Amino acid sequence: MMDVKKSAAGVAGTAVSQEDLREINALAKGELTAEQVYTFAVRLCDNEVDRDFERFSRAALEELGELFLGRSCIFDHQWSAKEQTARIYRTEVVEEPGIPTETGESYCYLKGYAYMLRSEKNAELIAEIEGGIKKEVSVGCSMKRQICSICGRDRSEGPCGHVPGRRYDGRLCYVTLEGAADAYEWSFVAVPAQREAGVVRKGLHPKGEGLKSYLERTGARGWLCELETLEKEAQLGRSYLEGLRKELVRLACTADADLDGDLFAAVVRRLEEREILELRRVYQKRVAAMPLPGVQICRGEGAAAEDGGAFLV
Ligand SMILES: [Zn+2]
Repeated sequence: MMDVKKSAAGVAGTAVSQEDLREINALAKGELTAEQVYTFAVRLCDNEVDRDFERFSRAALEELGELFLGRSCIFDHQWSAKEQTARIYRTEVVEEPGIPTETGESYCYLKGYAYMLRSEKNAELIAEIEGGIKKEVSVGCSMKRQICSICGRDRSEGPCGHVPGRRYDGRLCYVTLEGAADAYEWSFVAVPAQREAGVVRKGLHPKGEGLKSYLERTGARGWLCELETLEKEAQLGRSYLEGLRKELVRLACTADADLDGDLFAAVVRRLEEREILELRRVYQKRVAAMPLPGVQICRGEGAAAEDGGAFLV
């Protein structure tokens, strides 16, 4: 027996049908109306090889579907009150034809339909689901067998000698999880673990390929936009740091005429923002205490000499 924790992306609000309401009320033993409940669908787990080089068999997904029925969501600590809970009232294994998995099978996933009360306490969580902030779900379950893809042995009975993630004669070694014994939790997570949730795995990241070209090749447009935003922000950060470094070199050369500006600039390039800010504070103080600020000249010519003595204290 093996305890398994997995995450996958895919949470979306759904409309409440009469059928949904019937199933919810059967579970809740109540008479809830469509206005009183909020329903959403989650991608619980799938049959793709994940970053731990494990996958669920299709049969295991069906078994997990039965076990997840009626299960309540475990929220982080701020969602601990009793009425703040979402419960799975229906599950189904959904096929996504056209996308083969790493193993060449057709891709399928276990979809869970969950409901929660539209109460004041749940309003924030509902807003987060609707706003796409809560978009990954993690599941915890217990599996009976771990079948090695190379030799077919059950690794829960002992190691078979193959290492998941390695290739043997070109064949990837991965572990298929079979025989669902228990599905004990599902919860929202911040950090995804399954590939569907956005993790770039070693096997898909050939040596030398950059993140950008990988995203372009796989057509993940949303992430490409995100990456471009990050690149712009990183550029801003670099120019900010560069400005700080120049200012520090200028101040230091002003405070100390004997300082070799080029040498000091080379040292400053290795410092981090916190260190630069501290040194700048020290030199600003020194320069401010000088009788005639800004009249001394650096010996070096590099970054330190640019802009002359045009700093402000
Ligand atoms: Zn093996």
